[in-house]
Amino acid sequence: DAQGSNGQEKIFVAVRLRPLNDRETSRNDVSDWECINSNTVIFKNSIAERSMFPTAYTFDRVFGCDCSTKQLYEEGAKEVTLSVVSGINSTIFAYGQTSSGKTYTMSGITEYTMDDIFDYINKHTEREFVLKFSAMEIYNEAVRDLLSQDSTPLRLLDDPERGTIVEKLTEETLRDWSHLNELLSICEAQRQIGETSLNEMSSRSHQILRLTIESSAREFLGAGNSSTLTASVNFVDLAGSERASQTLSAGSRLKEGCHINRSLLTLGTVIRKLSKGRNGHIPYRDSKLTRILQNSLGGNARTAVICTMSPAHSHVEQSRNTLFFASCAK
Ligand code: ADP
Ligand code: MG
Repeated sequence: DAQGSNGQEKIFVAVRLRPLNDRETSRNDVSDWECINSNTVIFKNSIAERSMFPTAYTFDRVFGCDCSTKQLYEEGAKEVTLSVVSGINSTIFAYGQTSSGKTYTMSGITEYTMDDIFDYINKHTEREFVLKFSAMEIYNEAVRDLLSQDSTPLRLLDDPERGTIVEKLTEETLRDWSHLNELLSICEAQRQIGETSLNEMSSRSHQILRLTIESSAREFLGAGNSSTLTASVNFVDLAGSERASQTLSAGSRLKEGCHINRSLLTLGTVIRKLSKGRNGHIPYRDSKLTRILQNSLGGNARTAVICTMSPAHSHVEQSRNTLFFASCAK
């Protein structure tokens, strides 16, 4: 990077287009966007209004609508998420408007990562691994444990050694795949409790799934040779970006009644500052999301943002907002 000072990694930024869905096709909506190579997405609808927006956008990777989540994982996400087995913290985000494919993409990435982690553990019998899983949701700046029946908001505490910790958060020691599937269905059920519309809820809340791996060599490696490693990987399915975009796009009016999501806005600021390599103040403490993720964002941690987009012309405004966010992050 330009700073070059401490070998800080830049943020990996990718864009993913989903296919037009049946609803869009049946109302004769058309696709506006096309990936012309592995780095560039273009606005191809030339008969559109004379545009003051750029028509080509370049990122670390772009994935077209015919690209599988497996391919996205192999070519984009894996390098970030699997760093956890080497003792490096990481966070991967799905950012985009509601219905653009965040949950679809993030659940695939989570599954492929877990597959590879279980594989890695089986192959590295010289080490002993302990996997811990936790899950939380941030809704209106309240943090809830998705593995507990108790929906009382959890407090964040500052630990001098471990940084911000979520008080009383359930941590399950993971046995195997079927145990993980069990825990994932508990999370899913918890998210729905007390909510009339899951869609409305998921458009406003952030979900963080966190896997922590502790590993130690089975044999003593000699004095001065650190034999234990601990790191976490965070899979973050963000609230719909339509909740923040009104204030992100310069010049546009604030829509009345639009609920501004503090965590989403602060995340945008934190990511912009990190990607510029600024050494100045990074406002992690301004939101619950960024406080919880602080140890896994910036510094020596690896970060990836996968921005999901609907290709439909009817969503062009939101898609541009997403590309604007993605451009600021890279
Ligand atoms: P979000 O979480 O952003 O609101 P979802 O992940 O729920 O959006 O996706 C909305 C719908 O589109 C779901 O039915 C999902 O299965 C489908 N979908 C999303 N991305 C893709 C894709 N890349 N390929 C096929 N279907 C997709
Ligand atoms: Mg979703």
